[in-house]
Amino acid sequence: MNYRAFGKLGYKVSALGLGCMRFPRIYHEDGPASVDEEKAFEMIRYAAENGVNYFDTAFTYHHGNSEALLGEALETYGLRGKVKIATKQLYPFMKTQGDIRRNLESALKKLRTDHIDIYLIHNISSADWEDIKRRDIIGEYEKFRSEGLINAIGFSYHGKIGLFRDVLGFYDWDMCQVQQNLLDSDKEVTEEAIALAGEKGLGLAIMEPLKGGGLANAPGAVENIYGEYPQKRTAAEWAFRHLINYPAISTILSGMTTMEQLKENIQTFSMPDAVANCLSGEEKQIILRAKAAYESYASIPCTGCEYCLPCPKGVNIPKIFSDYNEGVMFGDFSQPKRAYMFQGNGRSSADYCEKCGVCLKKCPQGIDIPDKLMAAHDALTGWVE
Ligand code: SF4
Ligand code: SF4
Repeated sequence: MNYRAFGKLGYKVSALGLGCMRFPRIYHEDGPASVDEEKAFEMIRYAAENGVNYFDTAFTYHHGNSEALLGEALETYGLRGKVKIATKQLYPFMKTQGDIRRNLESALKKLRTDHIDIYLIHNISSADWEDIKRRDIIGEYEKFRSEGLINAIGFSYHGKIGLFRDVLGFYDWDMCQVQQNLLDSDKEVTEEAIALAGEKGLGLAIMEPLKGGGLANAPGAVENIYGEYPQKRTAAEWAFRHLINYPAISTILSGMTTMEQLKENIQTFSMPDAVANCLSGEEKQIILRAKAAYESYASIPCTGCEYCLPCPKGVNIPKIFSDYNEGVMFGDFSQPKRAYMFQGNGRSSADYCEKCGVCLKKCPQGIDIPDKLMAAHDALTGWVE
């Protein structure tokens, strides 16, 4: 396993981190799926015994069971001392200052540990950031750190670069966690965010490196491009190498679902040449062409410009089109359906559209938005967690 500096914290973490939110599941006819604990335990043990020393979980993963499962597995196999645990609290669960401490105590208990190595504010968003500052949530985390209950303070983030700059500049964070992958390299938190975090000396964890697993699949045109390179690599390895190349990245979190994926990924992240600045000009060109080829499969020509927003009904039009296009691109709608279900919980799904037509005049691509929203809604509904 290759190891990389974790920012200013002075220790190294494995270049591959285990994301604990996609463990193998058992599906039930009469209720939500549950984690296949036996297989998940095997994966945690195999990862820790084969060099993975960064485990990322959260209060909310696997319906609140991920922390407990990780804690039990690490205790069972005597592995706690070998690994760093990162976990998170989501702002909507911090209704009172007392909740913040109760949530931490619950995490410590579930994880069967007396301290958490890295404690994050989960998914800072524009809706919550002002309240997070006003209520001094970071100050609460600092108290936990001074009591030895947590060792480092960070945040995870999925939003736009503007707010990212604000959050980054507001506090002397130890680390941050952002989404990045081959397809997102020019949107959401972009290369700029990676560079900014690097300049400030933050540990940097990357999530969604395979975009929910989709980038492990290469449709025909992408496969042909990858096939031009003399060395044979899987689509997943190409996507990982795109990220491994950035010197500022500390660890790349992959939410693996099978032991085969785990073994293959450990191999990729152990290769002597899988290090920062590993990509040649030719390889960078191949990755850029693969990105364009993936995008050519998108069937709704939405560029994500957001001129159509805000929709008076709160419909998140570009996000819905992006989810739909991902399903078409990867030939697999499972992850887009899952993302869409969470979006529906936030009342921004396509079924809130009342066909008022306000957005139609604003779209430079001339997309028949209400019509395409209905098609996307049909394709994206039906996920059962
Ligand atoms: S047509 Fe639908 S999506 Fe467009 S602005 Fe009106 S309600 Fe929103
Ligand atoms: S205005 Fe059109 S292209 Fe731009 S985000 Fe909205 S639907 Fe997509």
